[in-house]
Amino acid sequence: MSTRPESVLSSAKATRAPARSGNEKSARGKRPSKKKAEGAQSTLVKLRVLYPDAHCELNFGSPFQLLVATVLSAQTTDVLVNKITPHLFARYPDAPSLAAADPPEVAHLLVSFGMGMHNQKAKNIVGLARMIMLNHEGRVPRSLEALTELPGVGRKTANVVLGVVWGDPEGVVVDTHVQRLAQRLGWTRATTPEEIERDLCALFPREDWAILSHVLIFHGRRTCFARKPACEACGVNEDCPCAFRAENVGRKPKRVRPPKAG
Ligand code: SF4
Repeated sequence: MSTRPESVLSSAKATRAPARSGNEKSARGKRPSKKKAEGAQSTLVKLRVLYPDAHCELNFGSPFQLLVATVLSAQTTDVLVNKITPHLFARYPDAPSLAAADPPEVAHLLVSFGMGMHNQKAKNIVGLARMIMLNHEGRVPRSLEALTELPGVGRKTANVVLGVVWGDPEGVVVDTHVQRLAQRLGWTRATTPEEIERDLCALFPREDWAILSHVLIFHGRRTCFARKPACEACGVNEDCPCAFRAENVGRKPKRVRPPKAG
């Protein structure tokens, strides 16, 4: 992602979040040992030194555009989303213009760049723009609860927006890289995103939740690859319990094809 000018984000008008309630509490899992938490936090410090520029790699110019780009990024790459959004945002730069759009026209634009699930995604982004106009005075809401009421917006997307725009997510964004890295680094034994998120929230202080996922995604894209992790070159291999034997850790299980009939 291009790093957004601070002014873009700081000037963004947004519905303020309600006072912290049970959200933080519910995101935290069973308290880990002090030693384990200190070890994980020390590894995060090293990763932050390795990736001082870790950030969300989607391009956007406003909180609304980040929300739309993140919804579009489901099941596809940031690279493809970044190819499409300049064209999309040239025609529909904000909530009022996208709310007035015709979903089939938006779907046509998406599919012309090769985006899958284009009909559903077009319906979602037009729908969320309309709901933002109707319920939030055209501003992106600033709470997990309100964000996840928008079409196509789940917990992960909501926390991307809360973390990137306001630096205050209500959990840790767990994508495929975060899942794999958290398992390889020995920070979780869980296998579902929800349980992994709970373990990570328990290991790290809230102020690290936003940067944690950016740093892990950077490391996963540049060094700790799914199939062939570059352990030799990895700056945290001394901390990693899977170093040099990680190929099969944290990877999606192979699909077993059903035998052909007859
Ligand atoms: S040592 Fe290997 S498995 Fe561990 S974090 Fe580094 S690249 Fe990944």
